[in-house]
Amino acid sequence: MHELYIAQSILETAVTHCMENGCSRIESVTVQVGLAAGVMSEALAFAFDALKGGTIAETAELIIEKITPQCVCKNCLEIFEPAEVFLTSCPNCLSSDVNITKGFELQLLQLEAL
Ligand SMILES: [Zn+2]
Repeated sequence: MHELYIAQSILETAVTHCMENGCSRIESVTVQVGLAAGVMSEALAFAFDALKGGTIAETAELIIEKITPQCVCKNCLEIFEPAEVFLTSCPNCLSSDVNITKGFELQLLQLEAL
């Protein structure tokens, strides 16, 4: 369950950042998660809630912003949302030579702290 490690890393980053800025309580943490990143949002939220107790993020809310995957066809430059990221072809010219441009995000976007 690698969501646990991701949650831990998000929490540590948030807490460190907060303390460096002289804050004592984290209100919310916003993360971007691409739907192709292989991270289950529910598991991530669950792990975050389990880990935050006893830290300055104890009452913090984890806000998960989901990013829909996007592909660009290298052949005709069509931009489209793939139904299945790892097995996709262009809806316009049917080429399977496509670049995935969105959907693998996994980053801390915003912190609200007091
Ligand atoms: Zn195409």
